[in-house]
Amino acid sequence: MPRVLVVGGGIAGDAVALMLGRAGWEVTVAEIAPQLRGGGQAVDLRGDCREVLAKLGLLDEVLSVLLFQRGAAWVDRDGHRLATMPVEAFNGNGYVSKEELLRSDLARVLHDATNAHVTYLFGETVEELEDAPHGVSVTFRNAPPAEFDLVIGADGAHSRVRRLRFGPEETFRRPLGLAHAWFTLEETPKTPGIDGWFLTHNAPGSRAASVRPGHRGEQEVGLTFPATTLPPRQDREAQFALLDRVFADLGWRTPEFLDAARRAPDFALDTLDQIHVPKWHDGRVVLLGDSAWCASPLSGLGTALALRGAEALADAIADADALRIPHRLSDALTAFESAMRPRVDAAQRMFPGRVRQHAPRTELGIRAAAWLIRQVQKPALAKAFGRLMGDRGHLMDDRGHAQLA
Ligand SMILES: Cc1cc2nc3c(=O)[nH]c(=O)nc-3n(C[C@H](O)[C@H](O)[C@H](O)COP(=O)(O)OP(=O)(O)OC[C@H]3O[C@@H](n4cnc5c(N)ncnc54)[C@H](O)[C@@H]3O)c2cc1C
Repeated sequence: MPRVLVVGGGIAGDAVALMLGRAGWEVTVAEIAPQLRGGGQAVDLRGDCREVLAKLGLLDEVLSVLLFQRGAAWVDRDGHRLATMPVEAFNGNGYVSKEELLRSDLARVLHDATNAHVTYLFGETVEELEDAPHGVSVTFRNAPPAEFDLVIGADGAHSRVRRLRFGPEETFRRPLGLAHAWFTLEETPKTPGIDGWFLTHNAPGSRAASVRPGHRGEQEVGLTFPATTLPPRQDREAQFALLDRVFADLGWRTPEFLDAARRAPDFALDTLDQIHVPKWHDGRVVLLGDSAWCASPLSGLGTALALRGAEALADAIADADALRIPHRLSDALTAFESAMRPRVDAAQRMFPGRVRQHAPRTELGIRAAAWLIRQVQKPALAKAFGRLMGDRGHLMDDRGHAQLA
């Protein structure tokens, strides 16, 4: 059977590894983290996510770890609500859905299913990829070199596989002008009003602090602010100092959040970017998930695209013989691209003003956004607004479209 290397054991990497592993392929996953990565906020199960997980036979497990959700609420610096959008809004197609789970729970369910079928190399990455007569010769950071029939780069928005094979990150990166920190608060007191609610406090200067409940009393925090570059990932102190400066006067629970960020085991800070790569494969190397097409967390569709993309890739190369004949492999990978491009293009095409609406610049803008959130839920506007949410609607299943229409 073909030998496949998947670089990156995130959602896309584990999903494709599971599909190919179950088909009997010899699959190795090289994940740079020393163990399965936890952390991250919520994943929406609507549409593609639900469908692909159901096909994988993982839906019941995923449904057993759903978050208790009431909706989204926007609050002022004293915690008073400016606007709310319950999960029932737009027939269940609003900002927050009833069916969401923590990204870390989804990663765990996928990993547990995948573990039986593939070999994991944790704390591992690739240093070199060289074409060999019948495969790709891979130099690892730690493990001995090996040859594979196919290398799948599922190593996220800052993909090393993409850099090694397709070019530097700057060529493909389109910053949206915002950065985002996220982490879990294990120990602070519960934020008032949080029960089942995803709370956001917007402040002038395009800044936002948000918090949503996990399962066990923990809270998932997000801090958004304008930036296109950040201190290096290794320099945590510089990152915390930047957050302290940017959020010093924000009010609400932000001082507690800033304090707890330093103790959080899963703290992460990154810019919100899109990745646009004109062609996702080159010879026996193919990109998958955020490394190929990151639509940014603002699209709300990163995981749906990762799962659907894994399925499209596994389907395209299902005929193992294709990996032996270069032009058949090229055809198969082209078919994968054709299947995914329309979905990716739709996800990357955010509706006008999406960034500004997420993080308004002025107090007036914040009040206007809250007013708009209230107005669009009124019956006269709800139908039209439902259609405007095309960035999500395009990717939903038929049921989703029917409900929006
Ligand atoms: C810890 C974490 C938290 C996240 N939180 C959120 C969130 O709150 N909201 C949101 O919208 N999106 C979040 N994302 C991104 C979201 O998971 C993806 O947009 C989506 O699921 C697509 O998945 P992916 O597998 O393509 O990328 P990712 O989920 O980013 O997975 C990529 C994997 O590759 C690994 N990796 C990176 N570089 C290398 C390397 N050089 N060699 C080997 N492995 C490598 C990473 O450790 C990671 O496990 C998060 C991602 C991670 C890793």
